[in-house]
Amino acid sequence: MSRRILDGKAVAARVRAEVATAAAALAARGISPTLAVVLVGDDPASAVYVRSKTKAAIEVGVVPRDHRLPAATTQAELLALIDRLNADPSVDGILVQLPLPAHLDTDAVIAALDPAKDVDGLHPMSLGRLAQGKPTVVPCTPKGCMRLLGEAGVSLRGARAVVIGRSVLVGRPMALLLANADATVTICHSRTRDLAQELARAEIVIAAVGRPEMIRGADLAAGATVIDVGINRRPDGSLVGDVAFAETEHVGAISPVPGGVGPLTIACLLENTVEAAARRRAS
Ligand code: NDP
Repeated sequence: MSRRILDGKAVAARVRAEVATAAAALAARGISPTLAVVLVGDDPASAVYVRSKTKAAIEVGVVPRDHRLPAATTQAELLALIDRLNADPSVDGILVQLPLPAHLDTDAVIAALDPAKDVDGLHPMSLGRLAQGKPTVVPCTPKGCMRLLGEAGVSLRGARAVVIGRSVLVGRPMALLLANADATVTICHSRTRDLAQELARAEIVIAAVGRPEMIRGADLAAGATVIDVGINRRPDGSLVGDVAFAETEHVGAISPVPGGVGPLTIACLLENTVEAAARRRAS
């Protein structure tokens, strides 16, 4: 059987269409789901991400509200803005574009968000609820991976899943989501003694490392489902994942880079925003 390519662009288009329908239903009730986007400093990559989030928001009927602050913004000034956005009833979601400049305390900023508006799902309350198996807001990239697995019809119950990476942004929430879906989960990281041995028996592999083509085809079992979260830029400017895609003819299914998880992350951010708006404004 030939391997299936998991088309993240197509799934993301479906998610965005669902979000547009939900946003239109809110608009019919006079509610404009609104996403405040906070960008501190002038990191060019962050500026590109913010632009694409803003554009995607407008396309589905989410109102973006940009807050651009200079690189020299103090912690107190940033926290004051977060307080204002928390208190503003017209704001449904607050996205703080990461990374923040080094002099700012990222954990303190995230913790200052109203959990009801934490559309990135990174507030301790959101992650704690996920750890309890009672998620409220799920971080966007792992949420996108789960959607990709779901649309591909991959059976998770009892399946041996290996997550490579344990970041708060991707690896940890991913592992929790898979465990909540009844997979048998192993988390691997830079101190894992024998990654090859863990991968050899994995039916599902989620690669979230950030090292170009670190996982070779020979590491992967025949028939495995592979989700490649990695986004690495080659010297020529092209993008490559954490998995050596060209060597994976024998796997069951794999998400490509680009065109796999990437498009789903923004789609899930918009989904979280509309869900937050519906929850907050239900009463
Ligand atoms: P981090 O750098 O925060 O985490 C990387 C993880 O990989 C760490 O847990 C680290 O282990 C582990 N690791 C590093 N080297 C090895 C190794 N040799 N063997 C096994 N594990 C290793 O990255 P993120 O989680 O933020 O992102 C991971 C990748 O996903 C990046 O390429 C990033 O660009 C991409 N990404 C893609 C998104 C998308 O939309 N598709 C969104 C977010 C991220 P340790 O904990 O021991 O240091």
